[in-house]
Amino acid sequence: MADCIFCKIAAKEIPATVVYEDQLVLAFKDLEPQAPFHALVIPKKHIESVGTLTPEDKELAGHIMCEVIPAIAKENKLDNGFRVVANTGEDGGQTVKHLHFHVLGGRSMQWPPG
Ligand code: IMP
Repeated sequence: MADCIFCKIAAKEIPATVVYEDQLVLAFKDLEPQAPFHALVIPKKHIESVGTLTPEDKELAGHIMCEVIPAIAKENKLDNGFRVVANTGEDGGQTVKHLHFHVLGGRSMQWPPG
């Protein structure tokens, strides 16, 4: 999508610190890290949010959850645990309208979120 910053990162038009990449998915360090490890996992194709996923995206979503995020956690030694967050829509606090999963680790997390 022309005006989407994460599409531009996926297309390598905007630089990012990449921590994982395959044909379908890119993961890169968040610009404003909220934990010692903070990466964003995105599909390379534009999907707005968890709220707009469809059954057609089942394989992609499963790949992200079952393969990509566990691999990132292992590679970055988040053995003591980590948090996965997908802010969704306005009330969910989503600021970038391209589906992304925050992967945060390296410190103890609090609950509930704000
Ligand atoms: P959201 O608030 O859940 O939509 O998260 C968007 C995230 O994208 C925030 O944590 C931002 O710090 C991060 N972000 C925005 N622009 C960039 C960028 O160009 N590179 C890396 N992270 C970014």
